[in-house]
Amino acid sequence: MRAMSTNSFPMDAEQRRVLSHGDGPLLVTGGPGTGKTAALLGRVVRLLEDGADPERVVLVVRARRDRRAARDALLRSLDRSLPGLRATTLQGLAYDAVGRGYAELGYAGPPAILAAADHLARVRQLLDGEDAADWPVYGGMLPLRGFADEVRQFLVRAQEALLSPEDIRERADAAGHRGFVELGSFYRRYLDVLASKDEVDFAGLVVQAGRAAESAPPAFDHVLIDDYQDATFAAEGLLLALRPASLVAAGDAGSHIFSFQGTTVRPLERFATTFAGATTVALQTPHRFAALRGGGGQAGHAQAAPPGPPVEGWIGAHASEEHAAVARELRRVHVRDAVAWSDLAVIVRRKGPDLAGVVRAMDAARIPSVVPETDLALQAQPATFPYLLALRWAARPEERDTLIEPVLVSDLGTLSPAAARGLLRAAAAAGEAPAAALETDDGLSDDEATALRSLRETLDRAEDAAPRSVLDAFSILWRDLACSARLVAAAETPDGRAGLDAVRSLADAVERCSARTDPSVAGFLDLIESGEEGLGLGRGDDEGDDGVRVLTAHAAAGREFDTVVVCGLVEGNFPSISRPEPMFDLGALDRARRQSERNRERLEDERRLFHVAITRARRRTLLTAVEGTTGSGGDARSRFADEIGVTWSLLPAGPYGDPLSVAEAEMVWRRDLARPDEPAAARLAALSGIGALGVDPSRWWFQRDWTDTERPLHEGEAARVSYSRLEKLENCALQYVLGEELGLEDRAGYHAWVGNLVHKLLEECEEGKIERTEEALVAAANERWRPREFPSRAVSEAFRGAVTRRMLPAWVREYGENPSLARELRFEFSFDGATVAGYIDRVGAVQTGGTIITDYKTGKKSNTAAPEENLQLGIYYLALNEVPELARYLPVKAVELAFLKERSRGAIARAQLPLTPSSAGEYRAGMRERLLGLVHRVRELESSENYRPSPAANCFHCRFKPLCPMFPEGRDVITLEAAT
Ligand code: SF4
Repeated sequence: MRAMSTNSFPMDAEQRRVLSHGDGPLLVTGGPGTGKTAALLGRVVRLLEDGADPERVVLVVRARRDRRAARDALLRSLDRSLPGLRATTLQGLAYDAVGRGYAELGYAGPPAILAAADHLARVRQLLDGEDAADWPVYGGMLPLRGFADEVRQFLVRAQEALLSPEDIRERADAAGHRGFVELGSFYRRYLDVLASKDEVDFAGLVVQAGRAAESAPPAFDHVLIDDYQDATFAAEGLLLALRPASLVAAGDAGSHIFSFQGTTVRPLERFATTFAGATTVALQTPHRFAALRGGGGQAGHAQAAPPGPPVEGWIGAHASEEHAAVARELRRVHVRDAVAWSDLAVIVRRKGPDLAGVVRAMDAARIPSVVPETDLALQAQPATFPYLLALRWAARPEERDTLIEPVLVSDLGTLSPAAARGLLRAAAAAGEAPAAALETDDGLSDDEATALRSLRETLDRAEDAAPRSVLDAFSILWRDLACSARLVAAAETPDGRAGLDAVRSLADAVERCSARTDPSVAGFLDLIESGEEGLGLGRGDDEGDDGVRVLTAHAAAGREFDTVVVCGLVEGNFPSISRPEPMFDLGALDRARRQSERNRERLEDERRLFHVAITRARRRTLLTAVEGTTGSGGDARSRFADEIGVTWSLLPAGPYGDPLSVAEAEMVWRRDLARPDEPAAARLAALSGIGALGVDPSRWWFQRDWTDTERPLHEGEAARVSYSRLEKLENCALQYVLGEELGLEDRAGYHAWVGNLVHKLLEECEEGKIERTEEALVAAANERWRPREFPSRAVSEAFRGAVTRRMLPAWVREYGENPSLARELRFEFSFDGATVAGYIDRVGAVQTGGTIITDYKTGKKSNTAAPEENLQLGIYYLALNEVPELARYLPVKAVELAFLKERSRGAIARAQLPLTPSSAGEYRAGMRERLLGLVHRVRELESSENYRPSPAANCFHCRFKPLCPMFPEGRDVITLEAAT
């Protein structure tokens, strides 16, 4: 809860100066917990008690939640009810000013305000109507949703910075930024359209309020504003225009953390020059942590430690251990120290694995949690997961290949991982994309097949409704998915009720979004996935909910708890400086900034954010981290923790002698019971305790043997191989069985996504579906580009540049004039009892007769074997020679690798192997022998089932290190011999 109280501690001398301040501007500064907000509240009370007109005193706070807390605190402190009491947000203040002066501003009535989601829809609508000829630089991007969002952000930032369209164009001309000139012109058209419709966006509202207030008599005698370190120039302009008799602004430059939302610390820094005659009061007494002061709360910490409660660090080996330890510690503090759940908080840097992991761990430990940020809450709850997954499936066909496995094994498909992998293998064997696994029921039981058919039909109906209405699509899912009935049935239990409540919150969010300008499923998903820089669904109301608050670091600003745990204190997460840059940085109009400069600024932003996160606790702050999270295997602990001298200790690990829950009691008593050296009385007591808990020994899995199907992995079927499988096998048998046989290879990452996109574009171009020109190919690539596939916008743009400026133009120059004879040519042939299958990228004609086989590469030449040793080309060559229907492409005169990204004398780098009648025979014989060896190896492994890691393997890209005994993380945690 926020420290919204006027009298929880005696005011110090500086605070009393704020209370008694007369007329004129006053700036109140002070670090976290020094009582800035309390001083502002106290001043409001003092003013009202001294007879000020409540209608002419206004307190401005950052968020709606703070407004409610401020009103409650004021009403508690005042001895009468005051209907005219004014505590509001900046938007509320601006709305009030525009409401009074709309006629002078030229509106027919109070303008309608575009909420964030409607704002994006309106910008898209306007961009759709634009003529690409007016956008020489960005014309090709006009139809893209991502571009519209960047333009929306630009429009907001420009207005917040009080830059008019004409200012933008003038500066853009001077700086030679042609793109900004286009934007400036659109900005003017945008403002004109909004004005003609009596509409205004949130940023424009504050600007208009400033104009309205300028020409009106002062509406307030006393204005007080909190969190002034995160103000905008438009807000500063509004305060100037209001001209109150007294203005008191409170802020802390060290807590400025919302720069990504366009706020700046400049209004705070220049307060004394902006508001003539301003004085300053610096608060220095740390009230939030006062209880600790006398006892030397910082004992043991370095000099650099910030004022505040003790900060300690726990480090572990795995995120699941980290989250479980956090959950146990929360319970310990709740039980032992009698702290209410709602006075405990877990802070994560952002939504992502830490958030979901902590919520899951708390769920498992039966600890109530509250996630106040609505979009995060919806994504973190296990009960809402199937519905969001189904909505993604319905609205994003292009993502289905990656969604298919979760769809099959989640509460939607309810299949076992083995059954799901069977369907995926069947789809692959039929030459289909992974998503086609939903269309088949090979190998499923009758019940499973019926359930899958029903899921298919429901998803089809939701897909039909998706472009039209998220409400309709969600209604179909809720009504027809089997998991809905299970949720309702489970609601008889307290745990089940929480699941149903979570889905009800999702339904509320869906309903709210369905009333927006873009009511589609795609629009809804954009809203909830848009992240901290995006539109978001806003904050829910968490007042009165009894549960541990799980917050992002930004949402924690201004709040206060007894104990706070900050998770994920590792480099790359906290600090996190890889956030995508906005496409249109207004700062670039003043001067070009180097990336190193931006990185420095971001690091400072992150440092302030860290400071805000660790100063939320009154009594104790705990940092947790996982060693080696960056993948380097080295020490990844956040530098920020070192800077404040945190001492790290290992995560506490069970079994705990002093159980806090039934599960822990069971664990401890089971251990005591099983120990032969334990006194008999203690073992009997443990047995009696276990009996009293009513636990079920049949679920004590560790006493069982490894699961064994008692059937071989392969049952006599012919081996089926492809180049990608054999490539893995040549590298390492363990990697082969885990990735190819058991299907454990997960998503291939953005390099593979780029490769797939380029291959698909070239295939469609060869088939005439895309015009055979550079412009058409580049436009199609831009249209299909998905920045979210990449770790940052910078990486996305680098790859987009490589594809649209290098690869596709080079391909058109090289192959544009000569259509292929075949592309993505499927083959399958028998070879020594095995089936060899695959696709050939391209078969082209050679002028002198015969053909050339081409394999496109989007990666580096240095990572690829030369054509004469390249197994892939060899298999393709054999395919044309072995499959009778493909004999029409003979004779093959050459095989080649075309490296689309690389250049050789201005053209695509191509590595060719010419095949003359004499060399072809030797090449073919060599490849047959190599393939024969690999097929024998496959058979041998299938019969022995002895898949070993290879000491000579290239492990760089292998994802199975945690399962591989060649690496420390893959070794057994407990050796059974030692355990027994
Ligand atoms: S890490 Fe290396 S040795 Fe281990 S499975 Fe992967 S490729 Fe094989």
